Amino acid sequence: MIVIFSGILFLTSKFNKYSVDKKLTNEGAIFQYLLKEKGVLFQPDTVIDYLDLVSENFDVIVFDPQTKNPVYFETDDTSFIFNNARVLTNLIKEEKLEKNIFITIRNKRLMIGTLLNENKSYIYIVVKDISGNNSYLSALAFIFIVLLFLSIIWNYYNTNNIMSNILKGIDEITDSAKNIKGKNLSERIDTTSSDESISNLIFTLNSMLNRVEKSFVQINEFTDNVSHELKTPITSIKSMIEVELSQERTVEEYQEDLGKILDEINWLNGIIKKLLIFTKNPEDLERHFKPIKIENMIIDLCEFMEILTFEKEITLKCELEDNGIEVLGDEPLLRDVFLNLISNAIKYNKINGKINITSIVTDDKIGIQISDTGVGIKKENIEKITVRFFREDTVRTTKKSGSGLGLSIVSHLIEVHKGTLEIESIEGVGSQFTIFLPRI
Ligand code: ADP
Repeated sequence: MIVIFSGILFLTSKFNKYSVDKKLTNEGAIFQYLLKEKGVLFQPDTVIDYLDLVSENFDVIVFDPQTKNPVYFETDDTSFIFNNARVLTNLIKEEKLEKNIFITIRNKRLMIGTLLNENKSYIYIVVKDISGNNSYLSALAFIFIVLLFLSIIWNYYNTNNIMSNILKGIDEITDSAKNIKGKNLSERIDTTSSDESISNLIFTLNSMLNRVEKSFVQINEFTDNVSHELKTPITSIKSMIEVELSQERTVEEYQEDLGKILDEINWLNGIIKKLLIFTKNPEDLERHFKPIKIENMIIDLCEFMEILTFEKEITLKCELEDNGIEVLGDEPLLRDVFLNLISNAIKYNKINGKINITSIVTDDKIGIQISDTGVGIKKENIEKITVRFFREDTVRTTKKSGSGLGLSIVSHLIEVHKGTLEIESIEGVGSQFTIFLPRI
């Protein structure tokens, strides 16, 4: 605003000066013309008649450069000439004025030029009172100063308001944040501040708290689950060893009991190995990715797993063709994914059940579908079966065939491979797991 006002003020004063100078030049020209036309010397009686034709707003003073005295003046304000005699004398020292000079003295604008009269050179000054213009400029300057002053007050008031609003918001955030601890992680930061950036900051902090709370709950659940799962085998190892130590046994008895302890330790070891998969950084895993002929890999896996179907006389049909479709991945990890899914299809199948493995190929992905005619999954549990340690109640009570970690590892590894997992199941009829992976 200050810049705009200064600009307006500057341009207005420039324009005023320009138009006054133009008028002075015109008046000077008229004056010169009258003298030339009539060829009149500065005889007071005659000149006055002619100068009556010159606009009343202008004064004219003619100096003799030799004597440096005014030979003629047509002005009401003679005091101006006498008061500024020294300045004017200095100005007219330059006898050969090549072009007109414009100058401002106090409230008067002057044009100084030379004129010839009867072969004698004179210096003449046309004067215009510009105090009216100045008062116009002064009024403008006054308005400008008032506006400037008002804008400073307005800015000060506004900045003060904004700042106090922001500071209030920051204080409230600090207070709320100080009170949020592990026990009340569900509380959120609130504010009475209307400032938009404070609201955005609070929204971001609250979203972060949501994520922290979710991770906190997951870590707690995970720790609970891990300790619960590890407690059972450790307790059973402990009691088995205590029984062993309580009395002497034969070598065969020791061998049999130590074998059982080894089974428990292997079970524990298996769980720990599986849990370690979750601690690996997905980016580190991605570094080992290479192109894999996925259907080829699953055909091999089916042949290898067929032996497990004999006990329940399950028919495993692998309807895949090795047509060279490739995905980017870590082969041992992807083998683990399909090994888990096929072994579940066997484990949760009925006697004489069926397992069918087929593929769906699109332009950008390949889907591998594993369908079984097993026990199926309760509708309300379908979403939960990929949660770590989740097992359906029906299988929980039966013999220790799994840890409830298999599908959570499958889902995690599919995510690492930028794929998706779709599960469909009808209790008592069977299940279908489809894994989609991006093609190279
Ligand atoms: P685990 O098999 O070790 O119990 P998983 O994570 O592999 O753990 O499976 C979690 C649960 O999902 C299983 O306990 C079982 O209840 C259910 N489930 C998994 N696959 C199938 C399937 N093909 N048919 C029926 N239920 C299944």
